[in-house]
Amino acid sequence: MGIFSVLVDAPAHSGIAGALDYTSDHALKAGMLVRVPLGRREVLGLVWDCPTSTELDPQSLKPVLAAYTDLPPLNAAWCKLVQFGAQYYQRSWGEMAHQALPPQLRTLSDEQLQRRLKKLNTPGTPPQAPGPEALQPPTPTPEQAQVLQALQAPAAQDRTALLFGSTGSGKTEVYLRRMTDVLQHHPQAQALIMVPEINLTPQLEERVRARFEPLLGVGCVVSMHSAMTPAQRLNAWLAAHLGRARIVLGTRLSIFASIPHLKLIVVDEEHDPSYKQQEGARYSARDLAVYRGHLEGVQVILGSATPSLESWFQSRPAQGEDAGGRYLRLAMPSRVGDSALPDVKTVDMRMMPKGTLFAPLLLDAMRERVDRGEQVMVLLNRRGWAPVLMCTECDWKSQCPHCTAYRVFHREDRTLRCHHCGLSSRVPRHCPSCGNLDLGWQGRGTEQLHEHLTQWFAQARHPDDRPYSVLRIDADSTRHKGSLEQQLSQVHAGEVDVLVGTQMIAKGHDFRRMGMVVVADPDGALYSADFRAPERLFDLLLQAAGRAGRAARPEGAPPAQVWIQTRNPEHPLFAALRRHDYPGFAEQQLQERQLAGMPPYTHQALLRAEARQLSDALAFLDAARTAGLQGAADRITLYPPVPMAMQKVANAERAQMLIESVQRGALQQFLNTWSDALHATRTQHKRVTRWAIDIDPQAI
Ligand code: ADP
Ligand code: ZN
Ligand code: ZN
Repeated sequence: MGIFSVLVDAPAHSGIAGALDYTSDHALKAGMLVRVPLGRREVLGLVWDCPTSTELDPQSLKPVLAAYTDLPPLNAAWCKLVQFGAQYYQRSWGEMAHQALPPQLRTLSDEQLQRRLKKLNTPGTPPQAPGPEALQPPTPTPEQAQVLQALQAPAAQDRTALLFGSTGSGKTEVYLRRMTDVLQHHPQAQALIMVPEINLTPQLEERVRARFEPLLGVGCVVSMHSAMTPAQRLNAWLAAHLGRARIVLGTRLSIFASIPHLKLIVVDEEHDPSYKQQEGARYSARDLAVYRGHLEGVQVILGSATPSLESWFQSRPAQGEDAGGRYLRLAMPSRVGDSALPDVKTVDMRMMPKGTLFAPLLLDAMRERVDRGEQVMVLLNRRGWAPVLMCTECDWKSQCPHCTAYRVFHREDRTLRCHHCGLSSRVPRHCPSCGNLDLGWQGRGTEQLHEHLTQWFAQARHPDDRPYSVLRIDADSTRHKGSLEQQLSQVHAGEVDVLVGTQMIAKGHDFRRMGMVVVADPDGALYSADFRAPERLFDLLLQAAGRAGRAARPEGAPPAQVWIQTRNPEHPLFAALRRHDYPGFAEQQLQERQLAGMPPYTHQALLRAEARQLSDALAFLDAARTAGLQGAADRITLYPPVPMAMQKVANAERAQMLIESVQRGALQQFLNTWSDALHATRTQHKRVTRWAIDIDPQAI
């Protein structure tokens, strides 16, 4: 009989943060999944490679109840990834490991798992006749060929490369080629390709399948994302774990997929904030991808037209004293084919009457485009009709009773909805405060723009006498399953003239007919308190611009255009955008960040707390700070706690405290030593309802 360490799902500091010891008559290997008793429950456990306590009497230990012996153990690299993730993001090993495994494994008996495995083993449909996509992938452009050559170089094999390529420069094609190389080179090799949100880019999944299924067989590609059913997720996980799936295409959670023969990792749109998990273990899948590549000695390709400033900095070339960054920077500045990048222009809205939704010249320009058979996209990152409903007589506004926010006026279904706590109610007939019947609104949302454009275009018809068609795509219009796909296919089929929407439509889509993009009202982000707001805005605008003019334009057609309505046309961000100059923009932002001592020149962590009373949240943070200051090294700064900008959400008062260091290692070391004091402090502040620590936070 042996004693084994087993990880069970337990949050840090529940007393059983590490592994627990169990006995078993069988020789269990590290990485095996088992079922063990925990209290009165029977739970999933992971056999862990760490020393068991030798003094323990085996008689006092509980036995492992069952082992999933048909499943190969998770390999050492996977266990190391989990261990690193737990340590770096301040979680327990057990919690991290369980978050990394498909949820359905927790409830499956060994027999049920065997049945699953048997099903996976039955042959699927035979490979179809390969389509043109697989047989004749396009010949690489000179830029693509150069990048591919650089990626094939022996010195690049175990490095991280930043592929900085304009929208439409053919980055995806580079990923596919690189994957083909790697997968054909080793008969078992597997590749992981990550995307921010799979639902928004069904095209990519199709493209990957069309390319690889004829080469490697049906079932060679599996998807992994949170919208899948638990059964689908488990099947995909098993297929990857058993090496049957050669390609894993997934969102951030796929970084933890078990991929025993991993040879390549691709992170598309690496700058996208959705790679950061926002609850539980707040990991960054992009950063873990870089770590995993390093761990397994495989190449990692980070791709973006607007890289995160962190990755841009990490890929800086050597200069003078500076030896340069660790990543290899590869650039593809030109678009594929003849299509030029669109012209970017600003419209000075200070010249227009207040409340103007669209400058008249833009409406005319839209109509001209549409009459030429092109499509127009109108972007506004705000759903609903208007962000605030208000009384014209008194000072009543549609404040949410539970949040530091206004309830948004949705005219379509006549509701006032809080986008933070979800509170929804009927629009009042009269002012709840003074009874006035005349209610007005402030600001604009996608519903309003859609209505305005529908009416404006209803005054006329297409040259061929069809009525114009204006469509809106946002989280409200796509709430029903399948509606997003249906609406997108309408756009692709050319049934839509003008498409109005939120950032949902700005990213990733390959709209071939889009000749013009209008950014309705981006100014809010210029004044945001969040130091990352300009970076995000630049990304959004460049992505939106990337939707325009993707196909080669007919002879004589005017160039594709992006119009930005703003009251700050002279802002340097717009100047850089007009030049399509990400490097210039990044340079200026990095200088600002360096002067202000912000990431990537410093490393940050946030301690956040919630309570019914703000003072309770602040008191906890204050005490935590005092405890931290006692042990803090001199390279650590603990800032005084402050209420969050959105102080109240769903009746929880929220505060936070920033911890900073110029050295990542010093910050990590401090957090590790602070951890015990933090948990002790927490037990003395019982009125704190929730708290969390966020490493490398994306919003402050
Ligand atoms: P990105 O990912 O950089 O936005 P894509 O890889 O989606 O760019 O390429 C943009 C378009 O150009 C796609 O329609 C793609 O099929 C096409 N394309 C990419 N590479 C080539 C090439 N070498 N020859 C012809 N067309 C290409
Ligand atoms: Zn009133
Ligand atoms: Zn609310």
